[in-house]
Amino acid sequence: MKIPFLDLEQQYESIKSEIKESINNVLDNRNFINGPETKSFEKNFLEVHGAKYGKGCSNGTSAITIALRSLNIGPGDEVITATNTFFATIEAIAEVGAKIVLVDCDADTYSICPKHVQEVVNEKTKAIIPVHLYGNPCDMDAITKIANEHNLYIIEDCAQAHLASFKGQAVGTFGEAGSFSFYPGKNLGAYGDAGFTICNSPELEKKISMHINHGRTLKYEHEFLAGNYRIDEIQSAILNVKTKYIAEWTQKRIEAAKYYDSKLSDKFKVIKRLDDVKAVYHLYVIEVENRDKVLKSLKEAGISCGIHYPIPLHLQPACKQLGYKLGDFPVAEESSKRLLSIPIFPEITREQQDFVIENLLKI
Ligand SMILES: *Cc1c(COP(=O)(O)O)cnc(C)c1O
Repeated sequence: MKIPFLDLEQQYESIKSEIKESINNVLDNRNFINGPETKSFEKNFLEVHGAKYGKGCSNGTSAITIALRSLNIGPGDEVITATNTFFATIEAIAEVGAKIVLVDCDADTYSICPKHVQEVVNEKTKAIIPVHLYGNPCDMDAITKIANEHNLYIIEDCAQAHLASFKGQAVGTFGEAGSFSFYPGKNLGAYGDAGFTICNSPELEKKISMHINHGRTLKYEHEFLAGNYRIDEIQSAILNVKTKYIAEWTQKRIEAAKYYDSKLSDKFKVIKRLDDVKAVYHLYVIEVENRDKVLKSLKEAGISCGIHYPIPLHLQPACKQLGYKLGDFPVAEESSKRLLSIPIFPEITREQQDFVIENLLKI
């Protein structure tokens, strides 16, 4: 049996005719930017995720940049995030010229550790970016408390957490803004690049919309220098089709994760989920000793796995100038050697899961 880490083919097969029709519609109408599909997708995505305001944009990285810019965060400001995230989170901070401040993650949830956030807040701190890594919601009670005490913005990186919620409230809606990626492998994936920035007010939505589209108010009237971070109509059309199914696909991920939990959680350390959260399992992550050996035997059995992420950001060559060193964030450093992401996608079968479980337990 061959088990891919991620299977985009089955999903495509199930919606192929709808997708082709939606792309053809765009081609027939030749309305390639800011057309009806984008407007409709924006409305539909906000509704299914559980948010009120927001705009589609070019990708998940620019979605964070746009949120930061729209909140006037820039040079002289500090923004706090966790060292165990995807590189894009900190690129956005660098792009607006703010200082990247990293903190360690919690040893049980692998989410940003609120205690460590508290320790690095100072008068220059403007925002916290909690990342709902693997689709597992962070402790938004603790983060909101810190943000309120120190008057900080919260921008949630929800690139891996479409439809996830914390105590019944959609992720991305706790503070000022939230960002999403529709990179093809994400839970809701385009067939190219796309993203979304959600926010908490119509005023901020307007600002976001201007930052996405040349700072413009009307055609050829520009209020400030911004850039082009637009989503295109073909990606919107594709995402509009997929948005109809995302709730169902998410439910299937949750069921697959429950099954892994029932068979693996007493043999391996698995990520702790806080009470009363809806995690959406972009990835299913366990900890193993001897990861190289485990990866090799799984590969030989035909099972593809991933590592998210092998190098914490403070130890990346690109982050040398931030001045961090080995030993600064021990939880992230130690877990990065043991984390293993095993196959999970909505279409994974029990039989495939049993094969993964059986092989893992054998090792
Ligand atoms: C994928 C991802 C991003 C970036 O999204 P792109 O669409 O690839 O730019 C940002 N943050 C996290 C946590 C991600 O997983």
